Amino acid sequence: MLGQMMDKPLLISNLITYAAKFHGDRDIISVETDASITKTNWANINERAKKLASALGKLGLKAGDRCATIAWNNHRHLEVYFGTAGGEYVCHTINPRLSAEQLGYVINHANDQILFIDKTFLPIAVGLKDHMPNVKQVILMGAKDEEALAALPNIMFYEDLIASGDADYQWPDFDENTASSLCYTSGTTGHPKGVLYSHRSTLLHSYCVVMPDSLSLSALDNIIPVVPMFHVNAWGLPYAAAMTGAQLTLPGPGLDGASLLKMINEYQVTIAAGVPTLWQGLLAALRETGAKIPSLDRTIIGGTACPISLIKAFKDDYDVDILHAWGMTETSPVGLVNKPLIKHLNQSKDEQEAMAVKQGRPPFGIDIRICGDDGSKLAHDGAVQGELQVNGYWVVKDYFNIEADTTLAGDGWFATGDVATIDGDGFVNITDRAKDVIKSGGEWISSIDLENLAIGHDEILDAAVIGAKHIKWDERPVLLVVLAEGSSLSEAEILADYVGQVPKFWIPDRVLFVEALPHGGTGKLLKNKLRDDYGDCLL
Ligand code: AMP
Repeated sequence: MLGQMMDKPLLISNLITYAAKFHGDRDIISVETDASITKTNWANINERAKKLASALGKLGLKAGDRCATIAWNNHRHLEVYFGTAGGEYVCHTINPRLSAEQLGYVINHANDQILFIDKTFLPIAVGLKDHMPNVKQVILMGAKDEEALAALPNIMFYEDLIASGDADYQWPDFDENTASSLCYTSGTTGHPKGVLYSHRSTLLHSYCVVMPDSLSLSALDNIIPVVPMFHVNAWGLPYAAAMTGAQLTLPGPGLDGASLLKMINEYQVTIAAGVPTLWQGLLAALRETGAKIPSLDRTIIGGTACPISLIKAFKDDYDVDILHAWGMTETSPVGLVNKPLIKHLNQSKDEQEAMAVKQGRPPFGIDIRICGDDGSKLAHDGAVQGELQVNGYWVVKDYFNIEADTTLAGDGWFATGDVATIDGDGFVNITDRAKDVIKSGGEWISSIDLENLAIGHDEILDAAVIGAKHIKWDERPVLLVVLAEGSSLSEAEILADYVGQVPKFWIPDRVLFVEALPHGGTGKLLKNKLRDDYGDCLL
């Protein structure tokens, strides 16, 4: 017997319809590519998104066609999110920092028909123009621009497109399992792989994001997603903000500490979200200016492990909570959030700090386990390490347009490639990417733990640990550090700091001092490159 409740599909257009109807006058602040500010609201975003969907139909797009974006976090990008998905097209967000070869690959692999592009990235479109045969139209995200016309004579302008859309367009109804957006993983080896989200997975993920034990959003919040809109849909925040009617403050290209500080204080932002390096930048700007950030309640950090020094600096000096979360492109991304249980509230400061660096526990909708190399299921005792596997309502089933893929486990679990422990309460500690873990004489050494301890030092700005080849032990850890200006910290002083904090055999064999460390477009250390450059330094 079936239930007798309304069978209303979970569609992204319902999110924006809700935001427009019940939170229509809530501000959306957006920094343009020329640093000017546009102030709009949910009602306008909905109106323009509908016109966009209608205009795309007039351009000849068919249901399911992919529309690529290479853009900052701004109000037009937000309109493209809702306009494409709502109109039954697919929003394919692209990381502008991919190599030219990878950009061409993802655009062609996705069979993108339209390319929306911010003016900053015009040179990318010019460079690709003869290498994307299926793209029917490049659309500059702005008003008519002579410079762009000279560079690409067939370019269209976003504001003209909106003007050509029907004001009385109605969002169509369709199956909630229809594809809504597409993100490619920032794979360091092989081709990037596409994860094709559905309307249903996106709405269920949004419900998860807003829950109190998840990222906890409400209509009272003002969110600054500093995480790019091309990085797993800005962690789902644009959709979740519409679901709650929260304000969005979209920082455009202004991602340096000083710009973020200005935005947070000028617009009274309550929640920020991004990778740790961004918050190191904000911290530096705060310290330099002596400014405070009284409106900011919490910062969501994920993408890479969050060092305790960062958590302590924000809490102790600025009364901002850091909410540590873990996720992947393949998990939409929220998979774990570090929210305490009642038993943790009376812990000592030391115990709380030890908890804070963990990636957290799964919200409802995600299940987790760890497995050994032979596929055996390992104990959740907080000590045994294995590969983290997940399943859930918003976890990838198959990569887009790829036949069989070995990373997808056969029994309905997704193998993440992360090495982790899980304790009895389901709290996960990610110790490494499987390919980054250092295997020294048969023992595993966590590069993340060693990096976090190094970054905790006041005079160390950035740190990376790699496994360097070793004749006797196969691999030994080598630490690369970027020192603060004027620091004369020595190798011996840095290594002495590890004594008593990690097992003796974990202490790196060498410290190399470098000017800068390579980070990818989503903030991750490019360890492959570091291994190529320094992997032989102990031979
Ligand atoms: P991406 O799909 O580009 O977002 O990358 C996902 C990967 O980022 C995960 O598999 C982890 O290796 C890493 N990651 C994400 N969040 C965290 C975190 N909080 N701590 C450690 N690693 C993380």
